[in-house]
Amino acid sequence: MKTIIEPFRIKSVEPLRMTTTSERETFLKEANYNLFSLHSDDVLVDLLTDSGTGAMSTNQWAALQRGDESYAGSPSYYRFEKALKELAPFKHVIPTHQGRAAEKILFSIVGGEGKIIPNNTHFDTTRANIEATKTLALDLVQKEGLDPKVEHPFKGNMDLQRLRKLLESDGDKIPLVMLTITNNSGGGQPVSMANIKATKALCDEFGKPLFLDACRFAENAYFIKTREEGYQDKSPKEIAQEIFSYADGMTMSAKKDSLVNMGGWLALNDDDWAMLARNVLILTEGFPTYGGLSGRDLEAMAVGLEEVVEEDYLNYRITSTAYFGNALDKIGIPIVKPVGGHAVYIDARAMLPHIDVKHYPGQALAIEMYRLGGIRACEIGTVMFGRQPDGSEKPAAMDLVRMAIPRRVYTQSHIDYCIECLEEVFTNKDKLKGVRIIWEPPMLRHFTAHFEPL
Ligand SMILES: *Cc1c(COP(=O)(O)O)cnc(C)c1O
Repeated sequence: MKTIIEPFRIKSVEPLRMTTTSERETFLKEANYNLFSLHSDDVLVDLLTDSGTGAMSTNQWAALQRGDESYAGSPSYYRFEKALKELAPFKHVIPTHQGRAAEKILFSIVGGEGKIIPNNTHFDTTRANIEATKTLALDLVQKEGLDPKVEHPFKGNMDLQRLRKLLESDGDKIPLVMLTITNNSGGGQPVSMANIKATKALCDEFGKPLFLDACRFAENAYFIKTREEGYQDKSPKEIAQEIFSYADGMTMSAKKDSLVNMGGWLALNDDDWAMLARNVLILTEGFPTYGGLSGRDLEAMAVGLEEVVEEDYLNYRITSTAYFGNALDKIGIPIVKPVGGHAVYIDARAMLPHIDVKHYPGQALAIEMYRLGGIRACEIGTVMFGRQPDGSEKPAAMDLVRMAIPRRVYTQSHIDYCIECLEEVFTNKDKLKGVRIIWEPPMLRHFTAHFEPL
């Protein structure tokens, strides 16, 4: 059969409240044209993020009942630890309430003024937590990863030459090397096993530990299975096990590839670092066997870790994201290629060349998608990155609109609806106008700024 169906059926439904275009025009006005300010029940298809927005399975909901809320030594912790070690046998497993808490703990231990932490591309919370310790966060993704039009099977790969040079010139300043799988800030692009292996070999040569920011490790494993020579006959679980065998530690947001709504962890082999990490954990999150989580959360993560490496799930996940992206590509809508694992990105600057970058083509497109179809997406461009520390304004490298796909939430007809809506936006694109900012906070303006259509 050519048709790939959702490998689940629906037992509990969450009704969507239908809205009209004119209602949405009012909601937009009330939200000052900032999609973060909308009430989410006024959104029909919410593609703002794939983080914590997934649907849990019947087995996960059942596992919640088994949650043991003992303060210390809960069996729920040990079940979670066992499920994780089945994939990633790190010696120490430290649960946190979400990914950034694990980052905060790790970098407060290994960071500090004058230090450098390289990565293929740091995710924004990772970069912010590193910089908060006055450490330099360096992005060393290979050059193909920076061009939205270049087709490459593993655009998330580390640039090994630049990493070697850095290790040679500044090795004494580097406490660890990171690799983000898949590369979220670079469009959800995967890293090849060969590149992970070679990065580990370089780390070994210079005596540095390799840490994975492993939020989407299962999606990355599936890309390796389908794109890298020699992995076609391996299961995603075996591939994930091999990936983790090259690492000395990991940070994780369970809101992605653990299929839960909240959770995360830090895992590592180094005994001294683990002791320091647990000291910080007790101050900021909780006792080492629950961290920032309830026993029931740990149970749901344990089951999620088994489900996320199932081949049918990953085939559906990666294929359905590609289905969305390829349909837009066929219409002629410029997207970042190839389509990544968790999101489709529209190149709004290329699609709306008549809108000056200083009038935010990405924001204009995201607003129109909501107005016409009730679809919520996220501008990743000059609104998000254009404001400079001195208050001046500079165009971002790209003006993208990200449509992130929640896991196991929407069916193909929801996606077909989005495709139809975007086709209509595309047909009338020459009539679209830009926006201007009428109020902005001093920092992270994309969350709260007020806009006005021109
Ligand atoms: C989401 C994410 C994080 C941060 O995790 P939170 O759970 O949102 O705190 C870190 N790195 C990457 C690559 C992510 O996608």
